[in-house]
Amino acid sequence: MSSLASVDPQIAELVKAEERRQADTVKLIPSENYVSKAVLEATGTVLTNKYSEGYANKRYYEGQQVIDQIEVLAIERAKSLFGVNHANVQPYSGSPANLAIYLAFMQPGDTFMGMNLPSGGHLTHGSPVSITGKWFKPVSYNVRKETGRVDMDQVRELALEHRPKVIFCGGTAIPRTIDFPAFAEIAREVGAILAADIAHIAGLVAGGAHPSPVGHADVISTTTHKTLRGPRGAMLMANDDEKATALNKAVFPGLQGGPHNHTTAAIAVALHEAAQPEFKAYAHQVVANAKALAEELNSRGFDLVSGGTDNHLILIDLTSKGVAGKPAAKALDRAGLETNYNTVPFDPRKPFDPSGIRIGTPSVTSRGMGEAEMRQIGAWMDEVVGALAKGDAEDVIARVHREVSELTAQFPAPGL
Ligand SMILES: *Cc1c(COP(=O)(O)O)cnc(C)c1O
Repeated sequence: MSSLASVDPQIAELVKAEERRQADTVKLIPSENYVSKAVLEATGTVLTNKYSEGYANKRYYEGQQVIDQIEVLAIERAKSLFGVNHANVQPYSGSPANLAIYLAFMQPGDTFMGMNLPSGGHLTHGSPVSITGKWFKPVSYNVRKETGRVDMDQVRELALEHRPKVIFCGGTAIPRTIDFPAFAEIAREVGAILAADIAHIAGLVAGGAHPSPVGHADVISTTTHKTLRGPRGAMLMANDDEKATALNKAVFPGLQGGPHNHTTAAIAVALHEAAQPEFKAYAHQVVANAKALAEELNSRGFDLVSGGTDNHLILIDLTSKGVAGKPAAKALDRAGLETNYNTVPFDPRKPFDPSGIRIGTPSVTSRGMGEAEMRQIGAWMDEVVGALAKGDAEDVIARVHREVSELTAQFPAPGL
């Protein structure tokens, strides 16, 4: 990055500092990952110079000889990887992709269903602070208090009572397998469109480590930058021609102008990588690592929502440890263990100061770590949280940080 360093040394230095931070940290944020050098290179290309409003062979600008080929390649790879008939690779990110679903299938004021935010839904599934909760009528379903798992009886009762136009399944803090066939049956019963938001688990689905929504959900929305390990972006998929056309119209011209062609190229690269046998191994190792980490935390008396995990994600209720989520996340971060504080189902505390933390294994798996490292990470978390509860964590944080640095040095992160 010699040009950046000479033109804007301030930004260049900050980028380097962030690179060092990412290298030195055990990143446990479940929505993040390390993309490959190939994905990074595609993201930083001259494709960023081109405007391409429209779709391949139907553009509103000339000079699309190359861009059309790139977008078609990305679409074909998405279709083949997920086994769908149609894919749109233009949404700028997961939130605009979800907005396209509203625009395609609903009118303002229409009723829809989604998982409630404090229990693991996404803002765009009807949170009152989101446009989706302000301009439409959300009906929220929850998990069962005793099991921490989605209450499918409640989903059905609410669907029968409110007759939603759309039902969203999926979320941001769901540690268990999403039962797509069960959601599909309820959606069919009430004539709703089932939208599967697989933003978090797309990489697991692609790698065969989580059941696929294809054949069950009418439309599928996903980010490309979480477990799928691509650039920041999103995709919408469908099998049905009419639904795919409605989604395409909603993305452009409904919501967006020109697609980000450099991102499209990087998505194509990530999809190519995700079709390789190594990616399958990665996806299964993500789950094996999460299970090992959950087991270690369980054995150390941590209270895991739903008791454990089926996927890449673990949601921890810290109430029993005598600390809140935010101070725990801040102490862990100072020890080199990067997590995020998060609400837990039925959280009595506020979203900005909740009871839990959310962790996951995609990033550490991308670095090549395995079950033994997960047990070590669980032990470190226990030491930091235990010391914090006693009110004297400084020495422990300093020591764990040294040990974390020794570990991260042995597992270089892709792309850095
Ligand atoms: C991350 C996420 C999104 C939103 O993605 P952004 O790219 O942050 O806009 C939407 N839905 C779910 C379930 C997510 O986890």
